[in-house]
Amino acid sequence: MPDCLFCRIVAGEVPADRVAETDGALAFRDINPQAPTHVLVIPKAHFDNAAHLSHSDAELLAEVFRLAAQVAAEEGVADAGYRLVTNTGAAAGQTVGHLHVHVIGGRQLSWPP
Ligand code: 5GP
Ligand code: ZN
Repeated sequence: MPDCLFCRIVAGEVPADRVAETDGALAFRDINPQAPTHVLVIPKAHFDNAAHLSHSDAELLAEVFRLAAQVAAEEGVADAGYRLVTNTGAAAGQTVGHLHVHVIGGRQLSWPP
């Protein structure tokens, strides 16, 4: 997906503040943070969003969520609690068409959003 912003970050063509990675997943800081900790965790492979995952992607999805938990621990927000969000489609506010999980923490979060 050459025109995909997050694929270009994976490829190193667009700079990002990378915080962690595995073979299949990458974590980097959101450019417009909404909380003291705001990291995006993505599969390195392109999926438009969560609706495009298949059963065969189960292991990769677990890898993404495991990396999100690792980031939360390393950021020091795991004990207090944090939020994992994946906006799916325009009405949810998805603006980048590459599956990503927001890891948001470091302040009290309200619900519903
Ligand atoms: P969405 O709105 O799709 O759920 O989340 C997209 C997120 O990507 C937004 O929070 C936005 O701030 C972030 N973002 C957009 N462009 C860039 C970029 O070039 N670099 C980084 N690190 N984050 C970006
Ligand atoms: Zn992509």
